[in-house]
Amino acid sequence: MAKPFASSADLAEKRETLEVLADGVYALTAEGDPNVGAVEGEDFIVAFEARATPVAAREWLAKLREHTDKPVKYLVLSHYHAVRVLGASAFDAEEIIAHAMTEKLIDERGEQDWASEYGRMPRLFKAPESIPGLTHPTRTFTDQLRIDLGGDRGELVLQYCGRGHTAGDIIGWLPKHRILFAGDLVEAQAALYTGDAFHMDWSTGTLDRVKSYRAEALIGGRGAVAIGRDAVDAAIEQSREFLLVMREHVGAVHRRGGTLKEAFEATHTALAPKFGAWPIFEHCLPFNVQRLWDEYDGIDWPRIWTAERDREVWAKLQD
Ligand SMILES: [Zn+2]
Repeated sequence: MAKPFASSADLAEKRETLEVLADGVYALTAEGDPNVGAVEGEDFIVAFEARATPVAAREWLAKLREHTDKPVKYLVLSHYHAVRVLGASAFDAEEIIAHAMTEKLIDERGEQDWASEYGRMPRLFKAPESIPGLTHPTRTFTDQLRIDLGGDRGELVLQYCGRGHTAGDIIGWLPKHRILFAGDLVEAQAALYTGDAFHMDWSTGTLDRVKSYRAEALIGGRGAVAIGRDAVDAAIEQSREFLLVMREHVGAVHRRGGTLKEAFEATHTALAPKFGAWPIFEHCLPFNVQRLWDEYDGIDWPRIWTAERDREVWAKLQD
């Protein structure tokens, strides 16, 4: 029997958990759905990620409003993916901050990515008609941007760690609490989506850099908050292992002149025992293998996913 396309048959609501990780540091996780977070400054809030629609974002904000009524001054977007950015208008933020490459990617492929992600994960797009259009950052940077949180709250350091899940991922680091918002560079027991990724960079220098913070708590893109150094390192290394297993098996089939389908099957077989039950594993894998195959073909800049190309690759690999 054919597997339903991507996450189109995943319609069950997830249970959300809002955790206060330190004074004024919030993380909302949702059993493998995309995580969001927020950090309180003295008289403002920095929100981390925006969700897929304004209506979905307002549900998150309603939970945050049980703790603080400070206005959202900054909305930080870790990368360009639609389920992270299209809810931005709900925050009424003064500034929308992202990496310069994220702005470029939104300009280049934001429309196609919106259609693609809506088709893959319709449940996340609550009231899709509430999206006013593409989200455009109002402030970008290429290496590092620091936000003084005021009082004795320390600062939030936004840092580019190299190419990874996309060409423009940034992390958010709170030195005072040693808490790290990793975006989709790290997943805690949720499958990695690598359809727009740079597998070689991500699995080496980029994750090394993320690990070098020696965080005491890490909020990944999906999955539970990792608490404690051991759990943080485990989440980073599990993410790396996922990438390395992909590189090993897709690379081997590519080198011997095999087919994309063979690469998919070899990778699926290798990953499934450890990662197969993690959220969105079946959904991600065809797109992941196609992108890594392209990298081995020498295609550096990820090809644009469209709703049509999504279905073609799915039909070729997952049916
Ligand atoms: Zn993403």
